[in-house]
Amino acid sequence: MIHEILPVGPLQCNCSIFGDEAQREAIVVDPGDNVDKILAVLKKHGLKVKAIVITHAHIDHIGGAAKLKAATGAPVLMNARDRELYDHLDVQAAWLGMENPERTEIDAEARDGVTLTLGDATFQILETPGHTQGSVSIWIPSRNKLVAGDTLFRDSIGRTDLPGGDGRQILRSIKNQLLPLPDDAMVIPGHGPLTTLGREKDRNPFLQDL
Ligand SMILES: [Zn+2]
Repeated sequence: MIHEILPVGPLQCNCSIFGDEAQREAIVVDPGDNVDKILAVLKKHGLKVKAIVITHAHIDHIGGAAKLKAATGAPVLMNARDRELYDHLDVQAAWLGMENPERTEIDAEARDGVTLTLGDATFQILETPGHTQGSVSIWIPSRNKLVAGDTLFRDSIGRTDLPGGDGRQILRSIKNQLLPLPDDAMVIPGHGPLTTLGREKDRNPFLQDL
């Protein structure tokens, strides 16, 4: 499976582009910005986007969704509990001193139990609220990869001091939804370097009391 990770926008959100070599289809996670670069990667591999998945409705993760959808026709999936945050994208933009991006319709809900397929791989949505109420992670068992959004980082966890954040809830989400996954699973955080679940269990200071 093709997997390119593209840090996009001023906050360098890790946008993941997954592609199936046989069917030339792609799933794009968190197209926060730099849609032209994302489209260039898709073109390089000859991929057609079948779904755009948003881990949560912060502008650095969702800001390019409307543009990518317009360019590809692919549906956008997001958890409904982040709808209010998405409704206030203009507030987020102003807060960061960014231009207010175009908004799009959310086409389908990303919630526990929802799965997407890409070639022979299954993408499972795991609800991991805490950073925001609608935060989700994406687990790809056959590739042993977890796209964690802003729930889990190398040596840290997502901030919970923004609207919709809850410090206890994010720890509960990590404990119940993420830590049961294999220790050698690769974690692609929403920002910064990759890691593994085992490494974070051992060394992440926020996880030591779980
Ligand atoms: Zn965020």
